[in-house]
Amino acid sequence: MTVLVFVDSATPAGRVADASAPQLLVTDQGVVRGDGVFESMLYTGGTVRKLDAHLARLRSSAATCELALPEEDAWRGAIATAVAGYEAGRSAASGDPDDTDEAVVKLVVTRGAEGEAHGPAWVTVSPAPEAGRRQRQEGIAVVLLDRGYDSSLADRAPWLLMGAKTLSYAVNMAALRHARSIGADDVIFTSSDGRVLEGPTSTVLLATRENGVKRLVTPRLETGILPGTTQGAIFAAARQAGWTLGYGPLEPHHLMEADAVWLVSSIRLLAPVTSIDGTAIGRDHELHDELSAMVRDIR
Ligand code: PLP
Repeated sequence: MTVLVFVDSATPAGRVADASAPQLLVTDQGVVRGDGVFESMLYTGGTVRKLDAHLARLRSSAATCELALPEEDAWRGAIATAVAGYEAGRSAASGDPDDTDEAVVKLVVTRGAEGEAHGPAWVTVSPAPEAGRRQRQEGIAVVLLDRGYDSSLADRAPWLLMGAKTLSYAVNMAALRHARSIGADDVIFTSSDGRVLEGPTSTVLLATRENGVKRLVTPRLETGILPGTTQGAIFAAARQAGWTLGYGPLEPHHLMEADAVWLVSSIRLLAPVTSIDGTAIGRDHELHDELSAMVRDIR
C-alpha cells in the first residue's frame, strides 16, 4: 500500500492523490532527464526519523540544482497527511503479513515540464523493503567498484552536482545490479586515486578499538559524497558516548584492517559488512551492538 500526497502551497495539508494512477506529465524533466531531487526517511514508532535533517538536505540539494522548492511548512503538512493516511490504511488492513512497523517516507520534487516555473512536489509513504531488515541482521558482502573520477573533482566541477541527492540514480542502481551479478550484496565506490567514497545508497563507517578507545571514521565530504544524515546522527551519539571521531581520507586497506565496517542509511540503518571482494573482514560484535543501540534511539 502506497499513500501519495502532493505538496501544494495553497493547501497546507497537501492534496491526496491515487498512487496507483498516472499522476505526472510524460514531459516532466524529472521523468525524462532525472532532473529533480529527493529524500528517503524512515517512519517507525509513530515518528518520521531525522525529519529536520532530511528537510535541510532537500533544501541544499535543490539549491545545488537551482530548483524551486515549496515552503517547508507545505512539506510538513503533506508529510503529516501522508503518514496519517498510511496509518489509517494499516489499521484497516491489520492482519496483513506484509504489514510491519517500518515505512519509507519519500519526498520528491522535479523541474517540471520544459518552460514551467516549477515542477510537482510530492510525498509517498510505503512499507519498508524486507531485504533491508534482513541485511541488518545477517550483514552484507561488498565489492569495491571504481567510480572513475578522482577525490578532488567535486570542487573543480560543481556542475556534476556531487553531494546533492538528485533523481539521477541509474548509475547507482547499475552498480548494485553488477554487484549482485557477481554474488555480492552491495558496493563501496572508490575514486581513481584510490580513496574510499560511499555506497550507491549508503555511507561507509568503520570502527577501530585501540587501548580501550573506540573510534569511528567515515570518508571526507570533500570527495563529493552525499552528506549522510544517518552518519551524522550516529557521530553525534557516539561523541556523547565517548568515542573519538574521524573523517578520512580512507583507502581500502583501512577497511580491511578495521575492527568493523558498516554501510549506513536512513532505511536499512546499520548493515554490517562481512566481506570485501570475497575477503572476510573484522566484525567486532560488541562495537556493533553498541552502535545498534545508538541507531535505535535516533529520532
Ligand atoms: N550516500 C548515498 C549515495 C545515498 O543514496 C544515501 C541514502 O540513500 C546515503 C549516502 C545515506 O544517507 P542517509 O543516511 O541520509 O540516508
